[in-house]
Amino acid sequence: MRIFDPHIHMTSRTTDDYEAMYEAGVRALVEPAFWLGQPRTSPASFFDYFDALLGWEPFRAAQYGIAHHCTIALNPKEANDPRCTPVLDDLPRYLAKDGVVAVGEIGYDSMTPAEDTALATQLQLAADHELPALVHTPHRDKLTGLHRTLDVVRESALPVDRVLIDHLNETTVKDAKDAGSWLGFSVYPDTKMDEDRMVEILRTYGTEKVLVNSAADWGKSDPLKTRRVGEAMLKAGFGDDDVDLVLWRNPVAFYALSGRLQLDPTEPPSPTHEGNSILRGGA
Ligand SMILES: [Zn+2]
Repeated sequence: MRIFDPHIHMTSRTTDDYEAMYEAGVRALVEPAFWLGQPRTSPASFFDYFDALLGWEPFRAAQYGIAHHCTIALNPKEANDPRCTPVLDDLPRYLAKDGVVAVGEIGYDSMTPAEDTALATQLQLAADHELPALVHTPHRDKLTGLHRTLDVVRESALPVDRVLIDHLNETTVKDAKDAGSWLGFSVYPDTKMDEDRMVEILRTYGTEKVLVNSAADWGKSDPLKTRRVGEAMLKAGFGDDDVDLVLWRNPVAFYALSGRLQLDPTEPPSPTHEGNSILRGGA
């Protein structure tokens, strides 16, 4: 079973996770820029984080045979913080980089006017940079959030078929599918979606344009949930080809819209790596 996790926050995870993910079949992943839990106090805090997503984390993933890409954005929660919003002006220089395969994660948290502005601005940035967008749906009031998200996407320069709507569930999947977006599902131990509900959704709505992710981060989450969904699909009578479509070919097809997907886990240059070489050379 080959697996592409299209949404996982590896910065929050350990090397044991990388080993277990490789063992489970994960060969590629995308790490969206998001909230650190601890509020940022200036745009400079984003720059170090974005640099880590583009340098250190792909280097770390490559040690375990996993290709790492990222998405870059001002996340919805911090779109409400005036200490953070100036980062919007600096996003273009990051969006030009090869390791960036989408703008994201963007979308709504509390559906404020500040979030409207950040979402519209960043959809325009995606269009300008010929990148797709990863748009999450809010944890509360999901259907209202989805409809408002789809309205903003329709008013933007980015076609809806270049948008992946994430954290979908039984209440939101139909409208997102009817709108023509890619369909993302985050499978979590306690909340969001579990593997059996995921199988039911695949039975009802099919496998086309469906992506499954672990969204594992610093909270209670499981980086092997993609594998668990593959196993649950096989147990429920789906074939190997269906599993491969959902867990590999669909995420590849979506992020390939960036024109930047590089599925060999090549080791990117990293300052720390050079530092290590210098250390070894001097030893
Ligand atoms: Zn996330």
